[in-house]
Amino acid sequence: MNILTNADLHCHSDVSDGTLTPEALAARARGNGVELWALTDHDELSGQHRAMAAAAEQGLPYLTGTEISVTFAGLTVHIVGLGVDPDDVRLKAGLQATRGGRENRAREMAEQLAAVGIKGAFEGALQYVGNPDLISRTHFARFLVEARVCSSTHEVFRHYLTEGKPGFVPHRWAALGDAVSWINGAGGMAILAHPARYRTTPTEEYALFSEFKAHGGQGVEVVTGSHTAAEYVKYAEMAQEFGLYASRGSDFHSPEESHTDLGSLPDLPGALQPVWEALRDRVIHPH
Ligand code: AMP
Ligand code: MN
Ligand code: MN
Ligand code: MN
Repeated sequence: MNILTNADLHCHSDVSDGTLTPEALAARARGNGVELWALTDHDELSGQHRAMAAAAEQGLPYLTGTEISVTFAGLTVHIVGLGVDPDDVRLKAGLQATRGGRENRAREMAEQLAAVGIKGAFEGALQYVGNPDLISRTHFARFLVEARVCSSTHEVFRHYLTEGKPGFVPHRWAALGDAVSWINGAGGMAILAHPARYRTTPTEEYALFSEFKAHGGQGVEVVTGSHTAAEYVKYAEMAQEFGLYASRGSDFHSPEESHTDLGSLPDLPGALQPVWEALRDRVIHPH
């Protein structure tokens, strides 16, 4: 596997806030020409054994994965862990603790929405939840589209559920150092997900990269469905400046909602070290 490998190392199933099962994602990845795949459900590993089995059935090389929600300097930041042992006790306990506040947060979100005239959002969102442990803003967004409050989930996030808008409940996720340490302790590599998505000042962004690296983080997503072409260039430079391996992943959630399909991203810019070369020994090859 080299820098041109069609690796897609970031996507979500209905174990978190995607709409497809791990099995359907494996088939879609294979059909779209993905050559190395990872399922990275938010704060969850419970889809990993199914994803591994489905990848093997499709003849698709696989890396285990998860995407951990972190609070850093008051911002929500996502850390992808690849090549982790999906049965690692400390990582599983950390993820369970990270998921823990989601139900109460969801009830508060529903109260705020009710106060602006949108009733029944908790029950409504629950209809879209595949895993009762993982109710997310995405499930509320799907309900608000069904209830015709907005015409798309993207519009929901613009008008509700984000800072300063009704339905936004601030939440404290895992600490950055803990998330990186759980991933490293489980034999994996920690990767800073879609860095362009965070509303940081340049100083805060530099601090995020520095602290991530100091805690033992080793990779950064350069080519992702969340970045523009100009951002591929910017984060390729950041990867080199900070000595980080580069990752590539669509962040695919749903055929109806996602702009970027599995396996459809451009290659990593040249001269970068791909995460999948460093993780060569963690790749699970089909027989
Ligand atoms: P949560 O972990 O419950 O805060 O939900 C975060 C999820 O919401 C992300 O993983 C995305 O899938 C989704 N999301 C966040 N912002 C947006 C947006 N602007 N448009 C569409 N989906 C979004
Ligand atoms: Mn998501
Ligand atoms: Mn994310
Ligand atoms: Mn994601």
